[in-house]
Amino acid sequence: MAERIPETLHKKLSERLHFYEDLGVGLFYKDRGAPHALSIATPAAESFEAPISRAISPEEVALPKSIRKPELPPAIQPAPRTLPAQVAQTAPRVAYQPLPVPAAPSLFEAFGKVPDDTLLKIRTDLGECTRCKLHTTRNKIVFGDGHPKAELVFVGEGPGHDEDMQGLPFVGRAGKLLTQMIEAMGLERKDVYICNVVKCRPPENRAPEKDEVEQCSPFLLRQIDAIAPKVIVCLGSTAAQTVLETNRGISQFRGQWLEFRGRKLMATYHPAYLLRNPSAKSEVWKDLQKVMAVLGLEVKKGKSAEAGKSS
Ligand code: URA
Repeated sequence: MAERIPETLHKKLSERLHFYEDLGVGLFYKDRGAPHALSIATPAAESFEAPISRAISPEEVALPKSIRKPELPPAIQPAPRTLPAQVAQTAPRVAYQPLPVPAAPSLFEAFGKVPDDTLLKIRTDLGECTRCKLHTTRNKIVFGDGHPKAELVFVGEGPGHDEDMQGLPFVGRAGKLLTQMIEAMGLERKDVYICNVVKCRPPENRAPEKDEVEQCSPFLLRQIDAIAPKVIVCLGSTAAQTVLETNRGISQFRGQWLEFRGRKLMATYHPAYLLRNPSAKSEVWKDLQKVMAVLGLEVKKGKSAEAGKSS
């Protein structure tokens, strides 16, 4: 007889199943056809399998900016990390495909590494920031959240309403999806660091403007340098185009390994975009699988027959 499970666990499992269904993964049980199989709402947690990729061709908008590739000597100080046990010491070699070097000076060129920088110092320096007009409408500064020495940093665009209310990044609907993505990678939010290009909510969730990005991005840069992650994942056009200082549409370089200040960088679609275009989840999952490979996280294979289907 099927066991009853607590309602909260039931809800969490249902959400996770819907997430995988959106990715086109329908088979979760080794013994799906067995007469004693549990109902769909009661799978064992370990029966989840990694989702599959499907081909789609979504597009996001481009910001008018100069093209460049920032570069400083790598300054990676391997610090003790707390990724799960399956993280391996050796990572596969990655073929970088840098964006073209721009003629114009880089937004980030002037910002060298601050010696012995820490997130605490950066937060202190940011203070109750009034450097740009976003301070007039914000409720709370959303500095960032997660492991101060994370191997993986996610960079989003800017806080939305929920983030502005709570002072934490990615806690709204898009944030829930990001959390699912992180968990699908075999990680938890506390294992990674999550932050944004701008630390205050742009009114009506508009894209951050150039002056706002210019004022705020030095803090993002310091955060990345202080954390010294192995991999940076830019979520969406604004993050990717800001950090890479490119005006190329994200779909032109999404899923490719790039380099930022000596670190590996992957741009992928923003979770909010995925909420509007669920069929793009499989592309994002492909990108995240590449990230997992570099971090030595187990990439579960299988269900490849599902590849190429759309939800
Ligand atoms: N979208 C973002 O880009 N960042 C957040 O923190 C939340 C939503």
